[in-house]
Amino acid sequence: MAVTKTPVRTPLKALRGMEDILPADQPYWQALQAAAVRVAQLFGYRLMETPVLEMVEVFQRAVGEETDIVSKEMYIFEDRGGRTVALRPEGTAPVVRAYFAGSLDQGPQPARLFYLEPMYRYDRPQAGRYRQLHQFGLEAIGEASPYIDVEVIEVAWHWYELLGLRGISLQINSLGDAVCRPRFREALRQHYRPHLSEMCAECRQRFERNPLRLLDCKKESCEPLQAGAPSSLDFLCEPCSQAFAAVKEGLRTARIPFALNEHLVRGLDYYTRTVFEFWHSSLSGAQNALGAGGRYDGLAEEMGFKPVPGIGFALGLDRTLLVLKAQGSPPVAPEPVQILPAAAEQLRTAVQFARSLRAGGIATQVDYSQRSLKGKMRQATQALVVCLIGPDEEREGTVKVRDMRRSVEESVPRAEAPARVAHILALASRPA
Ligand code: AMP
Repeated sequence: MAVTKTPVRTPLKALRGMEDILPADQPYWQALQAAAVRVAQLFGYRLMETPVLEMVEVFQRAVGEETDIVSKEMYIFEDRGGRTVALRPEGTAPVVRAYFAGSLDQGPQPARLFYLEPMYRYDRPQAGRYRQLHQFGLEAIGEASPYIDVEVIEVAWHWYELLGLRGISLQINSLGDAVCRPRFREALRQHYRPHLSEMCAECRQRFERNPLRLLDCKKESCEPLQAGAPSSLDFLCEPCSQAFAAVKEGLRTARIPFALNEHLVRGLDYYTRTVFEFWHSSLSGAQNALGAGGRYDGLAEEMGFKPVPGIGFALGLDRTLLVLKAQGSPPVAPEPVQILPAAAEQLRTAVQFARSLRAGGIATQVDYSQRSLKGKMRQATQALVVCLIGPDEEREGTVKVRDMRRSVEESVPRAEAPARVAHILALASRPA
């Protein structure tokens, strides 16, 4: 009798560079995303989403054919209707497209927008480098003031602070604009011209087409040549120079430390003036950037729209998560404020007080149980702030606000308590 053999099936695998996010990591992802929503909304930015698939031209025209993202890393294919489409490799170009398509240019300016989305790049997968990556992106479109540059950097800085991430280094530079950049570009060519024969093939092309990107090359043949290269800052025209001075002054006022990095570039012509990156020492080499951003006053026009200034950033969630884990930071967002009424008689006041905290945007829980106050305290140890309402507080219209990290307690008039609680939470969200 013939035995039918069951065909051996090799178990299916995920695509290279495409990671599953399993339940164990979800608390980290949720904390990263919740913190992003919180800081973005604190500054009045509104969430938006764009499709994962776009016409390939959105990126070719906006990001540029000469960038690695477009020339080597984009997932491109033909759809069933014969259109050439691309999986979104970055968020700025689609958001600018949507800003016009959705008539956001007709609304109040600037449009303050943010997104939390996966991006797709056919990059070489390794630690901290994936083919599906996730970004917290933010764009302010329609305002040229350097104050908005500072604001955008401040949002990112707040996010890292809120996550308790230590050791972030902010690098900034100014690339000038269409008036002053041509002179800088020419100076770069002069610097590199004598070394053309030593340079890699890619850099020889960059020399012709896009010399700013020569400063980006990490190859052994080219990196040493960056040492004596001219600095864009020496070529800034008066308006660009004033704008950059205002950005630096604004950062100082916001107490955000920064390092001037004269070789920080974005190789695309539509990038103007401020560029910045957030680095972390634990990430090495080409992967040391946790996030990056810059002003792109020439982008809308490049995409066929009317000119409009803009600035934004993209912060990588995947790498930020790696650093948070390495730092041993707990994945959870701070516990809600706990309101503990001493007994049932204070419950009504406690519930009313909780409402006043929530009205101020503070996550709050009330302990409704009949446990003793001591028992309630035992349950509340994870909270950053505990508010106690006993018979005395109820009578006097006060509340005992306890800063759990510093073990300090004070009696505060109930009307003033929300501000006091918010202050303690703000202090607690800063890294020690
Ligand atoms: P970019 O859009 O290239 O300026 O990148 C902004 C941030 O996204 C980087 O600083 C990284 O944190 C993150 N990122 C970019 N490419 C990848 C990738 N292939 N894998 C993981 N994260 C990435």
